[in-house]
Amino acid sequence: MHFNILTIFPEMFPGTLAGGVVGRALERGVWSYDAINIRDFAINNYGSVDDEQFGGGAGMVMRPDALGAAIDSVKNRGKIIYFSPRGPRLNQHMVREFAADADATYTLLCGRYEGIDQRIIEEYDIMELSIGDYILSGGEIAAQVFVDSCVRLIDNVLHGGAESTANESFEIGGLEWPLYTRPSAWRGRKVPEVLLSGHHGNIERWRKQQSDAITQERRPDLIKENEK
Ligand code: SAH
Repeated sequence: MHFNILTIFPEMFPGTLAGGVVGRALERGVWSYDAINIRDFAINNYGSVDDEQFGGGAGMVMRPDALGAAIDSVKNRGKIIYFSPRGPRLNQHMVREFAADADATYTLLCGRYEGIDQRIIEEYDIMELSIGDYILSGGEIAAQVFVDSCVRLIDNVLHGGAESTANESFEIGGLEWPLYTRPSAWRGRKVPEVLLSGHHGNIERWRKQQSDAITQERRPDLIKENEK
């Protein structure tokens, strides 16, 4: 999988993506990225890529001429995604679809300031994608969320392979059951007996019950979604 990342802060990459299983996958060449500095395509020698908003109002907007030149510099773009609170909210189902082709290329556009000129979105038929209902100061963290969530689904990135991704929250039709590890007693708190029993049928039933109860209590919307 390859990501072209358009940003005015290329030094923010790989950032969090250098660590853990995703970082090891980067070293192994399972995925790669180019961080392209939008300022290299600035409209003047001061490195300007933004300007005042037509119609007035506080905050700057990223200019289409600078952004267009930056996008044009990328030869193999694949799908272009602009991270924006206006897009559909990324969820695990969508991540599965993005990650289905391990050889896919994505071009990720990280906004700053108030956002980007609308004409860029139309000119390049760009998909907008939100990572949640809150405002970040830039799209770089959103891009890292996107890359991390996609890459960990590629075969052989996680130790447990397909089983460990299939057993997680959202994948199991709800939220994960409570997790326990050694020691079996800690500060007087014991691990539920059933998990020490070695009885796989009972363990599976307990996990399902717990998962259902937690999902019902915390995210009833997920249950409705599954019934659709
Ligand atoms: N004026 C915009 C917010 C701009 S925030 C609005 O009201 O919708 C600056 C940049 O951060 C955006 O261009 C976008 O790239 C990124 N960003 C902010 N919040 C985001 C979110 N929830 N999901 C994805 N990207 C986001």
